[in-house]
Amino acid sequence: MPTLPARAALAALLIAAAQPCARAAEPFAAPEAWFKPAAPFRIAGNIYYVGTQGLSAYLITSGRQAILLDGTMAENAPLIEKNIAALGYKMDEVKIILNNHAHLDHAGAMAQLKRDSGAAVYASAEDRSALEHGRHEGDSEYAYLTFPPVAVDRVLADGETITLGDIRLTATLTPGHTKGCTTFSMPVTDGGRTLQVVFPCSITVAGNVLVGNTTYPGIVADFEKSFARLGAMKADVVLTGHPEATDVFGRAAKLKAGDKDAFVDPTLLGRLVGKAKTDFAKTLKTEQAGKKSATGK
Ligand code: ZN
Repeated sequence: MPTLPARAALAALLIAAAQPCARAAEPFAAPEAWFKPAAPFRIAGNIYYVGTQGLSAYLITSGRQAILLDGTMAENAPLIEKNIAALGYKMDEVKIILNNHAHLDHAGAMAQLKRDSGAAVYASAEDRSALEHGRHEGDSEYAYLTFPPVAVDRVLADGETITLGDIRLTATLTPGHTKGCTTFSMPVTDGGRTLQVVFPCSITVAGNVLVGNTTYPGIVADFEKSFARLGAMKADVVLTGHPEATDVFGRAAKLKAGDKDAFVDPTLLGRLVGKAKTDFAKTLKTEQAGKKSATGK
């Protein structure tokens, strides 16, 4: 049983931990939705949602094998495993685990999911250290956050294709939010048509230091490059690590009601990138002004 001060410290940490992907300036309480179970459902082709109400995890299947994208919070491993089982898959049929980026709300449960499945973890070289140390890396107001470390079995290069059965998933590096932030994309056959599905990495600033970042001096240029790369990608379906960013549950309800195009939205990625660019420019300007006044120039 933790002592009272220890419990208070833990509670404070949990509250602070709730916003690594939220905009830093907004006060934030730990969203219960991150830990709330959601029933799994099919999105398109062989892609299924197996996350919670507030954090996404996706299962991509081929025959009796599957790739799992993201682990969400460490506490959620049993919920994800229950969802995978509800879809009729055994944990040892999950062969590969991927990660959007090395922050606790997407990578937290990966260690347990890896232990329980025996799957191989593939990640970018630039996020490997953060995953293997179980910590947020880089100058950020959330740099102190930690999660259970997970070993990376294979390093993904930019543009590399991950193959499992008939799954062909391409990894595109879109750094900024983390140094190794990775976007995944793949074609799926759905209702007799081919749809290009993109799982974009997070593109919010989310507490990262933009001006004078000593551990990640190229952060501004990386964000700008990633906006351009993502903006140029073709995406019929966009699936984010935070489900509300693309209204995953609203679309799922429409799909269930018979709207076969509920997830098809070819301008969605462009709109997301446009919004992120505007927010980024504002944050950068504020930081630049702050640094200037601090140095008296
Ligand atoms: Zn994040």
